[in-house]
Amino acid sequence: MVLTLGNYRQVLAARTTDKEILKNAQDGGIVTALFAYALENDIIDGAIVAGPGQLPWQGMPMVAMNRQELLAAQKTKYNISPNMKLLKEATRSFGLEKVGFVGVPCMLQGLRKAQVYPIAMRDVPDKIALVLGIFCMEVFPYQSMVQLVEDHTNQKLESVSKMEIGKGKFTVCTERCAVTAIPLKVTHKYEQPGCHVCLDYVANLSDISSGSVGTPDGWSTVFVRTKKGEAVWNGAVAEGWFETQPIEQVKPGLDLVTKLATEKITKNKKTLEERAALGVGKGLRNPYLST
Ligand SMILES: Cc1cc2nc3c(=O)[nH]c(=O)nc-3n(C[C@H](O)[C@H](O)[C@H](O)COP(=O)(O)OP(=O)(O)OC[C@H]3O[C@@H](n4cnc5c(N)ncnc54)[C@H](O)[C@@H]3O)c2cc1C
Ligand code: SF4
Repeated sequence: MVLTLGNYRQVLAARTTDKEILKNAQDGGIVTALFAYALENDIIDGAIVAGPGQLPWQGMPMVAMNRQELLAAQKTKYNISPNMKLLKEATRSFGLEKVGFVGVPCMLQGLRKAQVYPIAMRDVPDKIALVLGIFCMEVFPYQSMVQLVEDHTNQKLESVSKMEIGKGKFTVCTERCAVTAIPLKVTHKYEQPGCHVCLDYVANLSDISSGSVGTPDGWSTVFVRTKKGEAVWNGAVAEGWFETQPIEQVKPGLDLVTKLATEKITKNKKTLEERAALGVGKGLRNPYLST
């Protein structure tokens, strides 16, 4: 059986009720609010997130141990933030016993693999307490992102206040409210080539995954996937951290998520086949695809 959207126990539309988190969020503030709830309730004692780097909009892994640090790491950096790099460090140098982790699907494959085969990771897997996934169609190497933004928007990256991908466009907003929407057919050549063999769109291996697609602006589509994820999600909802709606009642809804996940898998399987013909057979597997 092919499970394009992975296994999940609940899927819904949600946004946080925490005004400060929502104001600064990429979408519904799901990631930051869940980590803030988990910190307050002693489910985690810190979280590995993509903090700001030295360069504008550079994602740099950081261990957030309080609300201010979580807030500082909000919003999507459309370049690689190698969050896995800090996993061991978080338990050793930062002394975390209960680690929260956010990552795109490929990072979660690495993380789950480290849990199954903890080579050079002694004691680390047992300390992973909450794994949040974010949907991902592609990423840009940092320099490609600079070129993409600066060549096509005529703006410096320093003046950008938000970037997002949706409705067939890569949209760049500046501090002074200039908005440029670049069609995705223009952005493809800037993508990291490794993304073209990736078969997971919706972070199948997370405890809870979320993304903007499927729900109205300012909301997120949320998949609650594991028992652990469900305990955390239900606890946070019961404490009033999130406003929710049945996914069937929002537009464009789950059909669009399924469509995009299917397109990613179909397109990237073709690249895998082309590479296999060249003798390079390995891609990033989606464990929920049987073929
Ligand atoms: C490269 C990339 C591509 C994406 N593509 C899609 C897509 O095609 N469709 C879709 O619906 N959603 C996509 N998303 C997810 C979406 O942009 C939001 O990140 C997600 O909805 C979470 O928003 P939020 O309001 O819940 O999180 P916020 O409260 O704003 O927090 C975002 C969290 O994500 C972390 N983060 C930011 N950038 C990165 C990064 N590069 N690597 C790891 N962690 C990071 C931040 O540190 C923060 O903890 C993508 C995200 C990334 C990073
Ligand atoms: S498309 Fe896949 S390989 Fe590329 S960044 Fe996203 S999850 Fe990783």
